[in-house]
Amino acid sequence: METAVSGAAEFYLGLETGGTKAVATVLDHDLNVRATQEAARPAGATAQDTVNQLITLGRTVLAAAGVQGAPAAIGWGFGGPVDRTRNRPAFNFHEPGWDTLARDPATQIGGALGAPVFVENDCNVAGLAEAHLGAGSPDGLTFYMTLGSGVGGGIIWQGRILTSGPMGEGEIGHMKIVPAGAQCPCGQHGCVEAYCSGWGVGERAVESIAARTERTPLMETLLQAEPRRRAALLFAAWPGDAFAREQGKAFLNHLADAVANVGLLLAPSRLVLGGGLAQLPWLVAELTPRVESRLPALMRGHMQIRTAQLGSASVPVGAALHARQYLRTT
Ligand SMILES: [Zn+2]
Repeated sequence: METAVSGAAEFYLGLETGGTKAVATVLDHDLNVRATQEAARPAGATAQDTVNQLITLGRTVLAAAGVQGAPAAIGWGFGGPVDRTRNRPAFNFHEPGWDTLARDPATQIGGALGAPVFVENDCNVAGLAEAHLGAGSPDGLTFYMTLGSGVGGGIIWQGRILTSGPMGEGEIGHMKIVPAGAQCPCGQHGCVEAYCSGWGVGERAVESIAARTERTPLMETLLQAEPRRRAALLFAAWPGDAFAREQGKAFLNHLADAVANVGLLLAPSRLVLGGGLAQLPWLVAELTPRVESRLPALMRGHMQIRTAQLGSASVPVGAALHARQYLRTT
């Protein structure tokens, strides 16, 4: 049976929106997860629908955790750029209306749930969670990189999200690695996301198949597959299948270019890989020597590349952690 606990005992609510789901997690003052609730986000949901969904989900999870009254603070990991000067989501390619909401979303959620809301980009809060509770480190510099439907990054310095301005830092997904390369959804060409995200890997494979006269069964399977399933199907055939091996090497080499550039620019002690593609069991072992070979001898052996440990909990837990840190310093 749940034991009723007071909100005054410092509970923090972490929210996540992005992709296809909304998640809410309650963290206690010792950073233990007390409850988590998840809900699918209906296709075609507007920004206001999502705000309403977060309020309902927040109430449900606080009740499930036995919290009476309000949490101390609420963090919100938003899947897209945020405007820190206004403490609100800036935009999302897949969900219209964030920039034109009549009532400020953080004020709406905070008013309904009775606590201040702090909005931050989802990769940044995931990195914060990994630095404190997962594969990163609360000391020095941790760079978090997500390889999922998109590619994103977060810089954690001395246990806090490094913030240098109103918009995001660590936008590694849109760092250019191939001159005049493949088109990226951001409008630019040759971005990391066009080569190392799930959709990017799938698109590059389809492009390569289209240029051939002979097709293997794997190639036929990939052409017929749903676009978002292609990367998983391709890499499931690695390293036995020659085409999967060739595409896998291209993915690894592009990723190694990006990660080596992070090493040169920031010299993190930990580089943590999260997101769906980071679960590939061979990724770290294949990537590490490729990254090392791209670094000057003097810089080798410093940056440990690791797989994220918190899985899908990283964003809501990180959001709650962010709220806790923010509340304590404001
Ligand atoms: Zn881009």
